[in-house]
Amino acid sequence: MSIYWGDLHNHCNITYGYGSLDNALEAARGQLDFCAVIGHAMWPDIPKSRKEWEYEVNYHLEGFRKLREGWDRVQRTVSEANVDGKFVTFQGYEMHSLKYGDHHFLSPDDKMPLLEAESPGALMEMLAAYPVMAVPHHIGYPPGQRGANWDSFREANSPLVEVYSKHGCSMSDESAYPFLHTMGPRDSRSTVFHGLRQGKRFGFVASTDHHAGYPGSYGDGRLAVLATAKTRTAIWDALMNRRVYAVTGDKIVCGFQVNGADFGSIIQDAPLRRISLSVRGCDRLDKIVVYKNTHPWKVICGEELEMAVQDGGLDGGGMFGADRSGVGTYKVRVELGWGKPAEAFAWQGRLAIDGGSIVSAETCFRGRSVLAPTPEMGDDDNMNKLDQRLHSLSEAEAEWTCASFKNPTTLHPATAAVIFELAGGTGTRLRLTINGRDIAVGLGELLEGSRSYPMGDLLSETVLVHKAVPECAYTFAGEWEDRERLSGNDFYHAEVRQVNGQYAWITPVYLDEAL
Ligand SMILES: [Zn+2]
Repeated sequence: MSIYWGDLHNHCNITYGYGSLDNALEAARGQLDFCAVIGHAMWPDIPKSRKEWEYEVNYHLEGFRKLREGWDRVQRTVSEANVDGKFVTFQGYEMHSLKYGDHHFLSPDDKMPLLEAESPGALMEMLAAYPVMAVPHHIGYPPGQRGANWDSFREANSPLVEVYSKHGCSMSDESAYPFLHTMGPRDSRSTVFHGLRQGKRFGFVASTDHHAGYPGSYGDGRLAVLATAKTRTAIWDALMNRRVYAVTGDKIVCGFQVNGADFGSIIQDAPLRRISLSVRGCDRLDKIVVYKNTHPWKVICGEELEMAVQDGGLDGGGMFGADRSGVGTYKVRVELGWGKPAEAFAWQGRLAIDGGSIVSAETCFRGRSVLAPTPEMGDDDNMNKLDQRLHSLSEAEAEWTCASFKNPTTLHPATAAVIFELAGGTGTRLRLTINGRDIAVGLGELLEGSRSYPMGDLLSETVLVHKAVPECAYTFAGEWEDRERLSGNDFYHAEVRQVNGQYAWITPVYLDEAL
């Protein structure tokens, strides 16, 4: 089985949201394997009578009407965009609910009808003739205010729960990325940990909830599935069986097994549990925690990974090789942005390598940062046509185009990046051409630290070539045995944190004595 990347919850102008569906699908094809671009469809308990919410109520109702009117066209476009083996799509739409929390309904069936109901459970009954799942999202909001309603959660209806999006992280009180949107804070009773402690079983996914038609927008949430093929049937099977995990943005490749069963499995309880975890990150690993029944069980400190390799023989080689030439594999991130452009700033990039080779490249492209409509924002079909693409990639060179925006706050990036995995040593040289400007830098220099290259004067857009990360610092593999059975329903999951604040939250393996 292979890992594939997707976004199952994001919006464009098929309802309230911005940018066209066609451009959204084009953006998704650029950096994802599968996606669902969904419309807002209903809000049974919308607070219509509140005068001060008139703007919010109206844009919601107008959005629902727009989706209903365009539904046939939306469904056809999504269906036609599915090309098994190349790019997979799913149908879907969304229900808001104060009482039950928000859900999106996903289906691999192109005929899934757009129906309305009073609750997610009632809608699932009405859709019983179709393969459909209801995914609770932004669950961390307070109970009764569109946060999780664990009392009404049904494992059979909801194999997946969205644990991270542009709204923040819903894992636990202690998680990074608290809720800061107008809808309110994170409440512990609505978190993933609260549900797991009640014995609920589900897979962890992340998706952007992007509202300007940019599925997979970097940093806002993506999910990984472990599937037999890049086809609708195979990916749906992975989703239904919880073979998923959530990431913030970086495509951190993880394997996690208990007694040989992959993440998401529900397996026979056993007195001896063999646990294995492998991680291939995109930046230096900071901390890895394996949890047992939501409590930390093993903690791995990132700094020690590199120290272990150095202790293991810097003299005799270690991470810098026997001849000190540093021959090995490294990740180097080329990030573009800053400045204060009024609109999207267009970048053209090229990287050529001397004395080494490019092993792989991963894009970190974003759309405009939009989470909800505002009165001043007007729609434009092409606001999500950003032409961000990796145009070519070979061992010797890579070419790409991307766009960046003015960082909206000093704590919120709107940059674009490409992460290159390079094979080489301290003698390897990177030759970049960015918007016509030539930049040359040695891998040896980058192992000491980052280098930035302003494109003009102070306040101009800038290129940042990050500090190079040796393979030993972005990879991990561990195996453990646990003979301490706490119950017949113990479960294990893992969290991976990189130094750049990017995370992976890996779905538990659940033991079950009743099997
Ligand atoms: Zn949404």
